[in-house]
Amino acid sequence: VKTIYSFAEGKAEWKELLGGKGANLAEMTRVGLPVPPGFTITTEACRRFFAEGERLPEQVARELREALDALQGQTGKVLGNPDAPLLLSVRSGAVHSMPGMMDTILNLGLNDDTVEGLAKQTGNPRFAYDCYRRLIQMFGNVVLGLDHFHFEQIMERHKQAAGLRLDTELSAKHLQAIIEEYQGFILEKSKRPFPQNPLEQLRQAVEAVFLSWNNARARVYRKIHRIPDDLGTAVNVQAMVFGNRGNDSGTGVAFTRNPATGEQKLYGEFLLNAQGEDVVAGIRTPRPIGELAESMTEVYEELMMFAKRLELHYKDMQDIEFTVEQGKLYILQTRNGKRTAQAAVKIAVDLVNENVITREEALTRIEPEMIERLLHRQFAELGERKPWVKGLPASPGAATGRIVFSADDAERWAKAGEAVILVRPETTPDDIHGILAAKGILTSRGGMTSHAAVVARGMGKACICGCEELRIDGKRKQVSAAGQTLHEGDRISIDGGTGMVYLGELPLIEPMLSAECEELLAWADEVRRLQVRTNADTPEDAKKARAFGAEGIGLCRTEHMFMDAGRLPVMQKMIMAETLAERKEALEELLPMQKEDFVGLFRAMEGLPVTIRLLDPPLHEFVPDLEELVVSQAKRESMGDMDPQQRKQQEQWIKKVRALSEANPMLGHRGCRLALTYPEIAEMQVEAIGLAAAECLSQGIRVQVEIMVPLVGHVNELKRLRQIIEGVLARYEAPNGSSIAFRVGTMIEVPRAALTADEIAAEADFFSFGTNDLTQMTFGYSRDDAEGKFLHAYVEEKILPENPFMVLDRDGVGKLIRWAAEQGRKTNPQLKLGICGEHGGEQKSIQFCHEVGLDYVSCSPYRVPLARLAAAQAEI
Ligand code: ADP
Ligand code: MG
Ligand code: MG
Repeated sequence: VKTIYSFAEGKAEWKELLGGKGANLAEMTRVGLPVPPGFTITTEACRRFFAEGERLPEQVARELREALDALQGQTGKVLGNPDAPLLLSVRSGAVHSMPGMMDTILNLGLNDDTVEGLAKQTGNPRFAYDCYRRLIQMFGNVVLGLDHFHFEQIMERHKQAAGLRLDTELSAKHLQAIIEEYQGFILEKSKRPFPQNPLEQLRQAVEAVFLSWNNARARVYRKIHRIPDDLGTAVNVQAMVFGNRGNDSGTGVAFTRNPATGEQKLYGEFLLNAQGEDVVAGIRTPRPIGELAESMTEVYEELMMFAKRLELHYKDMQDIEFTVEQGKLYILQTRNGKRTAQAAVKIAVDLVNENVITREEALTRIEPEMIERLLHRQFAELGERKPWVKGLPASPGAATGRIVFSADDAERWAKAGEAVILVRPETTPDDIHGILAAKGILTSRGGMTSHAAVVARGMGKACICGCEELRIDGKRKQVSAAGQTLHEGDRISIDGGTGMVYLGELPLIEPMLSAECEELLAWADEVRRLQVRTNADTPEDAKKARAFGAEGIGLCRTEHMFMDAGRLPVMQKMIMAETLAERKEALEELLPMQKEDFVGLFRAMEGLPVTIRLLDPPLHEFVPDLEELVVSQAKRESMGDMDPQQRKQQEQWIKKVRALSEANPMLGHRGCRLALTYPEIAEMQVEAIGLAAAECLSQGIRVQVEIMVPLVGHVNELKRLRQIIEGVLARYEAPNGSSIAFRVGTMIEVPRAALTADEIAAEADFFSFGTNDLTQMTFGYSRDDAEGKFLHAYVEEKILPENPFMVLDRDGVGKLIRWAAEQGRKTNPQLKLGICGEHGGEQKSIQFCHEVGLDYVSCSPYRVPLARLAAAQAEI
């Protein structure tokens, strides 16, 4: 097989072989665009180069000579011939575009002789020396590894000596002097001269571009973007065209649409009298492309026409490099342009409306994550600002505000109208009001699925977790890191999408679902089979989620309702009760509050299904910390400010809290185990549901209620609780006298429940896969500890392909889900199946849910739009 193809031979489909740049150069040549002629050395040649110990294989060297001969014939110029010197660019071009990561050399073929020829031939010595100067610098950098900085210093010195400011003001004489010094510098530093033999230049340049595949930049880029290390790069050798021949020449970059906003308007920059890298490297400040319309009207119109053609050809927004040589336009590169999330959506929708692509194509083009990014506040412009510290990007979005160190302070400051960032070592369910009040959350411990992260994502709040550098002193209300100490009230900005924390305040822009985004999601709704519900505990969340398109509540966590400041004391009274009568009294007090909660949810959902989960966490989460209690008791004791009555009460508290504490609370007395040992708690909750449903129905509000029992592992648990639920609800009726319709189902989150799904399905109207706990229990990983301790390393070291708390583990946890779904439906063909873990809002996991045949996914409100799109993609 050949290792080199001329541009006239290749095509866009050969991207693997020719790299992105080469394939597109060939494609543009094929469709008749003005591309300077050239050829591509394949990625296969690169891999062989490495396989043969970084030596150019004999076959490649031979084909290189042949390709060069052909190019010389085509151009009528000869490499190294002073009378008609052929000049070349040698350009890297990998399969996946890695902008600026690898190397390119321009003006190859110049030496002390050919530069004179070029000067004579063009009648423009200044131009010729400028090209030569650039070649030596690029060659020195790319092939010999000398930093650009040295060359720039030399040039700067010459400019200063001559009293000049701009590179373009340097005369032929100045440039000659610079060239001499460049050559001297190279000889001195690398102990070999700049090669005067153009064939030698070419061979070394090709090898250097191959080697640039493994430079540090490229390696890091590949790691971030998960591009395999063994693909290699192609090399494009192309005849030069010159944008630096004077003011009728120039070079630039154009996007066929605005890459930031998606606006359908040519967007770009250009420089007169310059070569390509001047624009990219920011050596001179380029002019907006619109000005080209004035300075070179015909070129501009032609560029517009090519842009349109390329866009129609590739059916996507293009990023185009062009050069104008003495009024003639050349296209040097095109690729699908990188763009912001906002632009991606607008462009996809516009292309459909312009009849360029189909709706389905548009749907597959948008990464679901992009949709999520659209829903979070973002910093307007980061510029060169350096972060203070960095943590895990736990919940996207940007927030800026004054720091506080406790949930109570957060609430108080927020009430006073301050934007605050809550800074905590970690957060617990007690902090929920603080999280609610804060604009963002920053913790020094915990991972991406830590409590703070999950809750923050649920609320669409920016959150950074596990920022281990931070030394947080909650008592003195200060935090230090990187030699800086901040105090309560100091301002910081956090970007939950990147994990960066900045000192001071950065400006924010407000997000919203654009009209285009709404349109795209409406198309997704037509395509998808999976329904999308939301996890919501409050009417506000429920409304937000419905605005984003949620079709029901898949999980209402009732425990959050008891964390509220007004209720916690009553809840604690209930927990501390010594007798059943006392407990019932407290429950009596909670009942009307809980009823109002449900009325609010039913109203917000207007007849859509609402899945209410009975109380799930262990009771100790609702009472003060044992250690704190003991310490405060001792303190007050020593100060002698406690009367015997108080002391007795305090001691009772401590006794009770101690009794509640467990070694493994997450595997302990919680979920249905709680409901079975304290049935009066579950009864109160179901009663509240019955009351709320009856009230709504009497007001003409439709209600579809699904009661969900958590943590079932044995069918008898569900069977018993189902009896209790049915018993309570039988007492309530709709205004027309009919009984209240409801479904009873269970979470499948204990492996045994999944394994015995056939039995459990006999007692269940629905299953909802609680994949957070199911993952935790299937792997035997403590979700709250694993990430910080070892999971991160597991993923880094590729022991696990992904963090299973973020992306559903198909092979293990997924097998349980598949089995449970099959077995459950065998027993009960009407069984409804859903998922309510964090995975319900994650693209790959949603794909899996679709494959397994679940009926719905449920996710936090801000993930609903993402889930709608991902569900549609799963169907396409
Ligand atoms: P990158 O992938 O970093 O953009 P390129 O290979 O595209 O590197 O080249 C860098 C610069 O050199 C670009 O601005 C490009 O337009 C310019 N360039 C490349 N080949 C030629 C050529 N044959 N004639 C003139 N300029 C060129
Ligand atoms: Mg380029
Ligand atoms: Mg659970």
